[in-house]
Amino acid sequence: VSLWYAPMAWLGGDAVDTGVLIETEGETIARVTTGHAVPPGESHRCADIVIPGLANAHSHCFHRALRGRTERGGGTFWTWRAQMYDVAAQLTPDSYLALARATYAEMALAGITCVGEFHYVHHDANGVPYADPNAMGAALTQAAADAGVRITLLDTCYLTGGIGRPLEEAQRRFSDGDAEQWAARASRRTSAAHVRIGAAIHSVRAVPADQLAVVASWAAQRSAPLHVHVSEQRAENDECVAKYGRTPTHLLAENAVLSDLATLVHATHLTDDDVARIAGARARVCMCPTTERDLGDGIGPARTLSAAGATIVLGSDSHSVIDPFEEARALELDERLRSERRGHWRAAELLRAATSDGHRALGWPDAGRLEAGCRADFVSLDLGTPRTAGADIANALEFVVFAATSADVRDVIVGGRRVVADGAHQLVDDVAGGLRAAVAAVMG
Ligand SMILES: [Zn+2]
Repeated sequence: VSLWYAPMAWLGGDAVDTGVLIETEGETIARVTTGHAVPPGESHRCADIVIPGLANAHSHCFHRALRGRTERGGGTFWTWRAQMYDVAAQLTPDSYLALARATYAEMALAGITCVGEFHYVHHDANGVPYADPNAMGAALTQAAADAGVRITLLDTCYLTGGIGRPLEEAQRRFSDGDAEQWAARASRRTSAAHVRIGAAIHSVRAVPADQLAVVASWAAQRSAPLHVHVSEQRAENDECVAKYGRTPTHLLAENAVLSDLATLVHATHLTDDDVARIAGARARVCMCPTTERDLGDGIGPARTLSAAGATIVLGSDSHSVIDPFEEARALELDERLRSERRGHWRAAELLRAATSDGHRALGWPDAGRLEAGCRADFVSLDLGTPRTAGADIANALEFVVFAATSADVRDVIVGGRRVVADGAHQLVDDVAGGLRAAVAAVMG
């Protein structure tokens, strides 16, 4: 049994509790009690406020190599994608492992205890399977172990270069040929203590309508998470309507993809009918606000979806920054810009999207909450930094969501193990140096 004492903690409501003692047994929270005036002598001391571990529900870890490098010269989502393919072409199992390890270590330092990796770089640069056809995915799960975080490997089916179009050269390494061969390869993956296996459909651009149900049934048979990029760009909607006579969401609904296992990523440009279908199916939507603004996608209808009954979760996607607090507050702040009004989301709602709801979307329903029986994954923040100074018990939650950054994270505990202590990663030496070397290796 270990005892962890926090002056304040968020236990899920609209206010914080004080004098919080978290008792852990192995990897699990055994008890949470509040109102302790002084910490028990034998307890570990956490920084000022403790929150549950944060879930990053949508990641392409290799995009970390593009940070800063794609910000010059304008362009569109589609010119950005060409730069992204140049990096994808450089990846090998070894360079992928190094880049993923460093990127997941950066996530851990930001308070992220679980990542959903939307993984489609399966084969070598010529599209030929490696001796182990899952070598690239194995690099990712190894990287997560090295960085001390949980991972849901969302093994992605990617077959075409657009609706009815062959793969481009850069996309060949993403494809298994057809959905049955994707399923055969994905079925050889195994979960582990820190690993869940899920499925993904890259998009309606990359998986033909008649193969969508193969991926959906693979996920349904396993009760596994099923993620899919949807309507990030208007061009995708236009192409889908032109070829299939229906929106991407409508097409997914007709092919058994929408269910409570499904998470639709972005969902930026939806019709009212799309919103009703998503909410009616109890599917989730993963917003990636820092990426959506970086790529000029638009502002997704998060509040409208939530009001209709869909759960919203969050991801850092292309990693133009990795800061879960920035993703959370962006839901509210983007809505303010669009509506010219304030106060659409409460801080606790935004934090729930970043914690328990995100973990559910990744197949970890017993993580992301500070409750007995849940996984002992939690994070502390310093409320005395230049960004957070002035916080008190009445507004600590608002300071965390609307003012804190990843730099204010002090301790990160995953499964009862302290992965970050006083802002320093305990398993990966020199995270910045690792990132620098790993980025250089894939940028040529
Ligand atoms: Zn994505």
